[in-house]
Amino acid sequence: MLVVIFLKDMLIDTHAHLNFSEFDSDRDQIIKNCLDNNIWMINVGTSFESSKKSIEIAEKYSEGVYATVGVHPMNESEDIYSLMQSDKIVAVGEAGLDYYKRPKNKAKRKEFEDKQKEAFLIQANIAKEFDLPMIIHCRYAHKDMIPLLKDLKGVIHCFTGDLDDLEKYLNLGFYIGFNGIIFKLDLDDVISKTPIERILIETDCPYLGPTDKRNDPIDAIRVAKRIAEIKGVDYDLLKEKTSENAKRLFLGAIQS
Ligand SMILES: [Zn+2]
Repeated sequence: MLVVIFLKDMLIDTHAHLNFSEFDSDRDQIIKNCLDNNIWMINVGTSFESSKKSIEIAEKYSEGVYATVGVHPMNESEDIYSLMQSDKIVAVGEAGLDYYKRPKNKAKRKEFEDKQKEAFLIQANIAKEFDLPMIIHCRYAHKDMIPLLKDLKGVIHCFTGDLDDLEKYLNLGFYIGFNGIIFKLDLDDVISKTPIERILIETDCPYLGPTDKRNDPIDAIRVAKRIAEIKGVDYDLLKEKTSENAKRLFLGAIQS
């Protein structure tokens, strides 16, 4: 039997890591609880192994659990191409630039940055080849990130940049992902100025929950409620629009 869920009755956590070992003891239960509450999820890969795991998890469900394949910029570059075989893969990433631990020495810093850019471009080519969006991780590197996004589509995950960066990403057609970090940093202005048609809800679980405890995709509810409040829109409307955004960006190929 095909059960139709209205978009206003669902939420899509577009950035979860149920593929991580933090969920080894109760992963199936958590997923069941989410699906029972009409919360779908995309489990994001950060390495070859965690990408493989996210595919394995997604393959177990006919609907509502999806995977991405990618290598996080803080991880050693790995060849992920051989994993691009499942029709549950909805994006490439998380990939991008993370300059948080950038060396102070000038030559070493350049080497560090170049290595990350190179790893990103390899993944960008895979996204283009498979016509998939990208999940972009960017920390302290927006100036270098923006020029690399030409001809790509996707989301700037866990956005914490300023209004200037926001405008550039929006002009490139990118979506903006917000998670529990909005309870820790003041992003009200950024959220107000991001059109509802470009907002994606995330948790980044097990990290970045509204509290310091392990979170899971259920916490997408708290994130979405807070964003609705900041934007002064009805919670149902926010759910409807952000679920529509997630389906448009990630699930178009699967559902059409
Ligand atoms: Zn993440």
